[in-house]
Amino acid sequence: MSCGRPNLLCFRFFSLSVMVQSFDPEEVQTIVEKMSEMLVEPTRSLNCYMCEAQFSIPAAKSPGEQVKCSGCNATNKVPQHDSSDSLAAALKSVLGSISDSLGKQVAGTIISLCIKGLAYSEDEHKQSLQLDCMDVCKTLLSRFGPDVSARHKELLSVLKAFLEHPDEVVRKGGITSIGPLVVWLDGDMFKEVMELVIQKIEESKNKEVYIQTVSVLCKAAGVRVSEYLQKIVPQLFKFCFTEDESKEDSAKEELWENCLQALEAIVFRCPNKVGPFVGELISLARGMMK
Ligand SMILES: [Zn+2]
Repeated sequence: MSCGRPNLLCFRFFSLSVMVQSFDPEEVQTIVEKMSEMLVEPTRSLNCYMCEAQFSIPAAKSPGEQVKCSGCNATNKVPQHDSSDSLAAALKSVLGSISDSLGKQVAGTIISLCIKGLAYSEDEHKQSLQLDCMDVCKTLLSRFGPDVSARHKELLSVLKAFLEHPDEVVRKGGITSIGPLVVWLDGDMFKEVMELVIQKIEESKNKEVYIQTVSVLCKAAGVRVSEYLQKIVPQLFKFCFTEDESKEDSAKEELWENCLQALEAIVFRCPNKVGPFVGELISLARGMMK
């Protein structure tokens, strides 16, 4: 089957890995850019349930809002974006099968659009887009992280903001997305992340978020994290050894669980610097088994 000029329908008919091999680089670039644009700014049209006319939804409208059919004036509800997860899956599949040289060319465009999609917002209608953009970023960074170094700072600052998001799912998305990013961060930015995490573990009401981030950072870049153990491990011990009476039992248990997971990640990923803490860790573990 020959498809002539590439258009957006191509990726409906071709398996994506075949697509990236069958088209020439410029065509793949065009398709990938279009897919990224559609992910972030979906072109939306709506079928009127009264007269079946198709009309386009004004860009400013969010899902759930009322819009008038231009054919019969009936009011219709703006549907949820339902295509963003399949577009994200498509982009991830392309990022996995594209050649190194072509990947380097398209990575910049994809990351720019993802950063746009990741604009911080607590609007619940934006959550699925935010999570999809995080997902695409993770896949992109794992293969083309160094090729988008010009955008690391921006990406870091949006992901940091998501650590304070009121919704737990989005917060978790932010935590796990920081992992593939820190692998590539330069010394200054890495230090910025570690200092933020250490400060928040001491001061924040949401310590758990930053303790979970320690686990992710260790798994991604344990050797670099090991330079900061003196400032992290004593804090984690403190939470495990002292009971905060103002907290509910379930909250205490969650804090302990997060601390133990972080300590486990530290033991596995920072073996070169964990030595001085092992004795105390063993007595902690013994105490908890009683
Ligand atoms: Zn109508």
